[in-house]
Amino acid sequence: MSHPFAASPFDAWLEGDPEVAGLLGKEAERQSTTLQLIASENFTSPAVLAASGSILTNKYAEGYPGRRYYGGNAVIDEVEELARERAKALFGADHANVQPHAGANANLAVYQALLEPGDTVLAMRLDHGGHLTHGSPASITSKVWRFVSYGVSPATGDPDKPGETIDFDQVADIARRERPKLIVAGSTAYARIIDPLPFREIADSVGARFLFDAAHPAGLIAGGVHPSPVGVADVVTLTTHKTLRGPRGGAILCDAALAKAIDGAVFPGLQGGPLEHVVAAKAVAFAEAARPEFHRYAAQVVANAAALAGALAGEGFRLVSGGTENHQVLVDLRPFDPELTGKVAQEALDRAGITCNRNTIPDDPRSPFITSGLRLGSAAETTAGMGVSEMRLVGELISTTLRHRDDEQVRGEVRSRVRELCAGFPPYPSLAGA
Ligand SMILES: *Cc1c(COP(=O)(O)O)cnc(C)c1O
Repeated sequence: MSHPFAASPFDAWLEGDPEVAGLLGKEAERQSTTLQLIASENFTSPAVLAASGSILTNKYAEGYPGRRYYGGNAVIDEVEELARERAKALFGADHANVQPHAGANANLAVYQALLEPGDTVLAMRLDHGGHLTHGSPASITSKVWRFVSYGVSPATGDPDKPGETIDFDQVADIARRERPKLIVAGSTAYARIIDPLPFREIADSVGARFLFDAAHPAGLIAGGVHPSPVGVADVVTLTTHKTLRGPRGGAILCDAALAKAIDGAVFPGLQGGPLEHVVAAKAVAFAEAARPEFHRYAAQVVANAAALAGALAGEGFRLVSGGTENHQVLVDLRPFDPELTGKVAQEALDRAGITCNRNTIPDDPRSPFITSGLRLGSAAETTAGMGVSEMRLVGELISTTLRHRDDEQVRGEVRSRVRELCAGFPPYPSLAGA
């Protein structure tokens, strides 16, 4: 009974609140009986869950270790210092700020540290894979700063040179013309490695700073399968909950010269008291990601995404960028079925127990609410233990579901095959019966 959940199943933890306990039980059931293919999601370890559900949530700790505004922070200082040291060691960075509540906050803090209101920022187009915080009209970022954008090159149809990769000539041209103060690399829907070096060269050529937003590939960088932007970019932001497999949150890495500006921009610039229970869980995750098993995990994530991509290509789907080099698979549904939208596909897959999200593809003729694409990810089910053969089966199940999307019987059959597959790879074996 040493496991946190074996000792404290939801009903016992939430004694007196059967409503919330019941919902947690239902969500545990959903997460373990359906396929989790949302590219930004993962399954944290029980140790991460334990730390993020801990008594550290009780403590106010505005400020930083050794410089707090409230008393009683001796232990909290050790927790945050440990998280910072582990982040620095994991990524080889001079300085780490582990307080951002999310990736979006990390980006906002960096903009605030490096820019004046109205300054120009060059980032990726949203409809080519950029994030909301890269200047979406719906985001505060576009109201405070002036965003201009680059995109991917056009698709070519040539399997050897498929296109739809970041167009560095365009990045350089726009940088020369617009003279941004900051260039942002990083994407929320892009299946290729993002090389930080060409961005660095372009930033230097126009005297801009360079932010690498590693929200998605942070775990692949930590696991040594993607090039590290640390030491190349001026600042690196990340989320701790995507491929890095920690608690929901953000972090910022930079060199010593920017440390003070970054820290001041996070607190008091943007946030109030830090979530020290989440900071403790980040410390746990940074240590987990430093282990040799995590290197194997990161390599398997990439191999699994490639297997899923290969299976889908074999079923007649088109892969955006011609394939994948990370944990994501971006699918253009049109060659498979010109009538099939991302929205309809997402809903049909959901009913079959396959969870993923619709996504715009570059130059999508349909609206962002409807779309012509799907985004799939391998990070979560790789954590659950699935390998290349399971990913091929998943590709086949996706194809069958979409081909027969109006056939209730086929959907029922897929749903039971998904249930069977998931039963062999429970994300939290010790949660059974919780
Ligand atoms: C997910 C993501 C973020 C934001 O992370 P949140 O934790 O959801 O705020 C920022 N940038 C990119 C590129 C992302 O993919």
